[in-house]
Amino acid sequence: MSETVNTFEAQQEGRPTGPLVRGYEVIIGFETHAQLSTASKIFSRASTAFGAEPNTQACAVDLALPGTLPVMNKGAVERAIKLGLALGSHIAPRSVFARKNYFYPDLPKGYQISQFEIPVVQGGSVSFFLGEEKKTVRLVRAHLEEDAGKSLHEDFIGQSGIDLNRAGTPLLEIVTEPDMRSTAEAVAYARELHKIVTWIGICDGNMQEGSFRCDANVSVRRPGEKLGTRREIKNLNSFKFMQQAIDYEIRWQIEEIEDGRKIEQATVLFNPDTGETRAMRAKEDSADYRYFPDPDLPPLVIAADWIERVRSEMPELPRAMAERYVSDYGLSEYDAAQLTQSPSLARYFDDAVKAGATPKLASNWITGEMARRLNAQEIGIEAAPVSAQQLAQLVQRVADGTLPNNAARQVFDALWTGDGSDVDAIIEAKDLKPMNDTGALDKILDEVIAKNQKNVDEYRAGKEKALNGLVGQVMKASGGKANPAQVTELLKAKLA
Ligand code: ADP
Ligand code: MG
Repeated sequence: MSETVNTFEAQQEGRPTGPLVRGYEVIIGFETHAQLSTASKIFSRASTAFGAEPNTQACAVDLALPGTLPVMNKGAVERAIKLGLALGSHIAPRSVFARKNYFYPDLPKGYQISQFEIPVVQGGSVSFFLGEEKKTVRLVRAHLEEDAGKSLHEDFIGQSGIDLNRAGTPLLEIVTEPDMRSTAEAVAYARELHKIVTWIGICDGNMQEGSFRCDANVSVRRPGEKLGTRREIKNLNSFKFMQQAIDYEIRWQIEEIEDGRKIEQATVLFNPDTGETRAMRAKEDSADYRYFPDPDLPPLVIAADWIERVRSEMPELPRAMAERYVSDYGLSEYDAAQLTQSPSLARYFDDAVKAGATPKLASNWITGEMARRLNAQEIGIEAAPVSAQQLAQLVQRVADGTLPNNAARQVFDALWTGDGSDVDAIIEAKDLKPMNDTGALDKILDEVIAKNQKNVDEYRAGKEKALNGLVGQVMKASGGKANPAQVTELLKAKLA
């Protein structure tokens, strides 16, 4: 991946690798909390299901009652292994849980169990396309930890309630290097990571319910300067807010610097109603948390054969799938990335090819006409009214020359709107068959030649382009049903 090397070289030399904003380079690093899809909590047997009555899913361990002890959930570890395998990371054979100490009402133990010095997943990277450009963001680590409870302020006048249902929910915190250079790149990274965690089934990806939430660390600098001071925007739970929040933060920081003020490191919150970010607290240093290894939990040991078993059960990953599409079908890397946006989209493409579609044509239809309509109606491929088999039939009729593009679009439209279900029947019913009847075509040719003497003379005088006008006239007169290549040949023969 030469792009990557160049990017990092440029970074080291202090050259900007992204678009400048008012002369400033933007630097972004992400910390993402992915809630793991286990049925029970990370250190207790209470349920992780969302939406239950407050405090009905908090057991003695989650309430931190005296004498209780945490017991590691194997399913959470297995999901961390899956992520590590998917992102090409090192999976630590021995990692350590630590206590992160702080006081907050939704944290009854007075500390959060997390991993600090030795996380379970180390290194790796996430690659994706930003427009047509391939980007790679390096990961620092991903560590296992428990979520805290929730303070409820809305339903209580003058007081707050505490709901500990979420306390002890398993999280994987995925931390990147500060490798992103624009809001667009940051959002594309988050989308790609979201795609991967849902693809491998370790997280349900539900952003409204908080199953996938991102903290964006943002700083700006003049090209060539050392890294600027960052502010961390917490808990972004939609891609739209993410974009608005980072854009706002970049502009805010540049304004501050331009006004001669210094950026103070801080944790900020985005307010979707005002579109602004606002400091919530000065950022703590890790020293403030007094991390130390949790004496209640032994080190997490992962044997090599466990990793191998998980590896053998992994689904084909989007990246591998995209590479297969490039090498087996000759698709561009970009198209292959488009087709592997979700398992269902890739399955649809595979099914169409299996049903006899030329891969390149199927890809064009799926990423073009199909994607446009799905977006317009805000539905996923699962809900597409045109099946993979129908698309294959259509594509075959394009490939064998039966359907010119224009007619193919009409057939697609009929399939989409339910105005027919069999491609050949639609071609028949709508009279879309190309004009193979040379008698009828011959008549049109003669008429067009008679009516366009000027073009005919020009062509005969050696102006090749004049022929295009004639071909266009014939196509029009045939209602788009003639084959342009055939028309060109016939015209040339007639005018020779
Ligand atoms: P902490 O553990 O205190 O949160 P880290 O050094 O682990 O700090 O960094 C947290 C996140 O901030 C990482 O995603 C990292 O890439 C990002 N980051 C670090 N420095 C900067 C910076 N100057 N600008 C933007 N992001 C940064
Ligand atoms: Mg942090």
